[in-house]
Amino acid sequence: MAIATINPTTGKTLKTFEPLSDEALEEKLARAAAAARTYRRTTPQERAGWLRSAADVLDSDTEAVAELMTTEMGKTLASAKAEVGKCAEALRWYAEHGPALLEPQRYDAEAVKATEAYVVHQPLGVVLAVMPWNFPLWQAMRFAAPALMAGNVGLLKHASNVPQTALYMEELFGKAGFPDHVFQTLLIGSSTIEQVLRDDRVAAATLTGSAPAGQSVASIAGDALKPTVLELGGSDPFIVMPSAHLDRAAEVAVTSRNQNNGQSCIAAKRFFVHRDVAEEFTRLFAAKIADLTVGDPMDEGTQVGPLATESGLEDVEKYVQDAVGKGATVLAGGKRVDRPGWFYEPTLLADITPEMDLYAEEVFGPVAALFVVDSLDEAIEIANSHPYGLGSNLWSEDEDERAQFVRDIESGMAFINGMTTSYPELPFGGVKQSGYGRELTELGMREFTNAKTVWVG
Ligand code: NDP
Repeated sequence: MAIATINPTTGKTLKTFEPLSDEALEEKLARAAAAARTYRRTTPQERAGWLRSAADVLDSDTEAVAELMTTEMGKTLASAKAEVGKCAEALRWYAEHGPALLEPQRYDAEAVKATEAYVVHQPLGVVLAVMPWNFPLWQAMRFAAPALMAGNVGLLKHASNVPQTALYMEELFGKAGFPDHVFQTLLIGSSTIEQVLRDDRVAAATLTGSAPAGQSVASIAGDALKPTVLELGGSDPFIVMPSAHLDRAAEVAVTSRNQNNGQSCIAAKRFFVHRDVAEEFTRLFAAKIADLTVGDPMDEGTQVGPLATESGLEDVEKYVQDAVGKGATVLAGGKRVDRPGWFYEPTLLADITPEMDLYAEEVFGPVAALFVVDSLDEAIEIANSHPYGLGSNLWSEDEDERAQFVRDIESGMAFINGMTTSYPELPFGGVKQSGYGRELTELGMREFTNAKTVWVG
């Protein structure tokens, strides 16, 4: 895949970039390793100060970065601005809580015949982050804020279609006053990742993206015995029970499925509605989907913009055609939008069967799959039959149903009467083929630390 900015709204190539030469890559790795040796000796308080400055830089750069993201991957300008704000929030969260979370944890010294026993959380060193284009600033920040707080050094290999946002990330940490080369962007194709990952100067890796990309990074890292965190795809269930507030559930269902032009790992993608309320919920859901304004993501009134890539659009089109060919009913949308760029209509499909490709895969576009079920058991059983287990959603006022859902749903996150969202204040991650490890909070920060046990006699 060429490293280039191609505007999805027009399909026009705006800027192309040469991948780093071997010499330039070597220089970046050497600088990262040198930075890691000194940065680990800075205090948590110093790092917190730089994180705060980075948040301030983001605040003042909001308009420009948001426009850049919209130009590179097509999210609406309003959502791009919100993404910048969320990144600043995460930086401030770590600045505020990071130092306390890095304090030594005391253990019972007497029990181990010591005068002191504690654990210190120390940085691993240089961490490689392989990131996707869908939330180009947030996905990378979700790695960077905790990693830098913990004293690690970051190398970002961003998706090839968001090179300018990737370069901005490096610029941001420079402007914030972090020591030189603590965070660098590598403009490289995915075929160069193995070389970087196997390099002795790289201690660990994190990847957010597709399952095949995750498998590749995990197997190389496994062979090299380096720790990884993987945040892969999802096909989150959204279960609506008879006690649910149907209008509110339908409203949130539409937002969840169509946010970011339908390209979010934690979007609800499969909708399980209890038969008793299926007719009413379906009517509300279809009407609200049909009401969405599709258009130029720079326009204020636009709710759904284009898909980020042409191949992404073709994939979505194939999933819908396959499902319709095998008997799915189109209740809204169902085709490309007749205009330049990579637009697809927000779509609702019913009568989904296991033979359809979208039944067990992830559709990365604005396509909702509707299932009518007779019980919560049935909804959970079909939901769990899917290989992914990232987020999940239940709409119910019934305490027993909520408890059953939390106990039985196979997912890393369970949201009740709300939409799965990543908050800087909550852990984020999945199970099964959605990956492993956690991001955000102290759990995310400790993924890339050495919990060193200290015993003093
Ligand atoms: P990819 O997984 O291909 O891209 C994500 C990142 O991984 C990019 O930086 C990419 O680099 C890199 N990458 C690609 N192939 C490999 C590999 N073999 N080894 C190591 N790194 C690799 O996602 P796509 O953009 O192609 O999207 C495809 C599907 O992935 C989507 O339809 C969706 O299902 C899923 N996805 C999930 C996301 C999530 O948030 N969980 C985010 C994005 C995609 P490069 O761009 O240079 O290829």
